[in-house]
Amino acid sequence: MPLADATIPVMDRGFLFGDGVYEVTAVIEGRLVDDAAHLARLDRSLREIGISNPFPADDWRRIEEGIVRRNALRNGLIYIQVSRGVAERAFKYPDDLQPTVVMFPQFSPVQDNPLTRTGARIMTLPDLRWARCDIKSTSLLAQVLAKRAAAEAGMAEAWMTRGDTITEGASSTAYIVTQDGAIITRSLSHEILPGITRRTILRIAGERGLRIVERPFTRDEALTAAEAFYTSASTIAIPVVDIDGHAIGPGRPGPVFTQLYTAYMDAVMALTDV
Ligand code: PMP
Repeated sequence: MPLADATIPVMDRGFLFGDGVYEVTAVIEGRLVDDAAHLARLDRSLREIGISNPFPADDWRRIEEGIVRRNALRNGLIYIQVSRGVAERAFKYPDDLQPTVVMFPQFSPVQDNPLTRTGARIMTLPDLRWARCDIKSTSLLAQVLAKRAAAEAGMAEAWMTRGDTITEGASSTAYIVTQDGAIITRSLSHEILPGITRRTILRIAGERGLRIVERPFTRDEALTAAEAFYTSASTIAIPVVDIDGHAIGPGRPGPVFTQLYTAYMDAVMALTDV
C-alpha cells in the first residue's frame, strides 16, 4: 500500500517498547543480496525473543520479490520489521499476540557510495549497548546516540569500544588489516551482530587465500593497522582512512580492501536478477 496509507496502532509493542527485530537486505541491480542468510538471521532473532516467525522463508522471499517488482527497485534496500504485536501497555504480554510485520523499500543506490572511493573518517566511542547484541533488535538507542556523536564530529561511522577493544561499528562490522596482511575481525559472540556481509566477505577472503583471524582487536592496533574497513548490507564495504584524527594506512582504499570489494561486487553481479 502507499506509505501514506500505512498505519500502526499506538499500542504496538514495537512502538512502545522497541519489542521487535528487523532486517535490512540490499538490492543491487535488481538482485537481492545474501537474501537467504538475512532471512535465516531474522528467523533466529525472532526465536531468541520468542516471537513466532509469521512466514516461512519461501513466503518472505516472494513478498520481497513483490516489493522489488512493484516498486521497480533496482538499487536500494528492503527493510523488514517484525514486532510482538498490539496489546494494552504492560511489560508482560498475552500469549496470543499477532506479530506486526512492516516492510518497505528504500531507494538509495548502495553501490554508489562515494565513501567506497574516498574512504571514511570515523571515531571511536564506548559501546553502551545491552548484553545481547547478536539479536537484531529494533531497540537502537545506543546506536542512534553513537551515530549522532559521529555526525556532530563530521565522521561517517562510530566504532564502539568495550574496554580496550573495538566491538563493531554502530551499524557495521569492523575489520583491520595488520602490517603483515592478516584480516582481523572480532569473533562472533553475544557482543556483536553476526553480520551477513561479514560472512560473505570472510568467505571471499578465505577463497583468495587471505589470512583471517577472528579475535578482538584494540583501538591501538587499529590506529597502527595497514588498513581498516567496515561492512554492512547498506554500505557493502567502506575503507577507513582516519580513526579519531589518526591517519590509517595510505589515506586511500588499501589493496586488501580493494580486492575484497571487487570480488564481493563480482559475486553480487553473478546472482540472478529478481
Ligand atoms: N553490526 C551492527 C550493529 C549493525 O547494525 C549492522 C548492520 N545491520 C552490522 C553489524 C552489519 O550487518 P550486515 O552485514 O548483516 O548488514
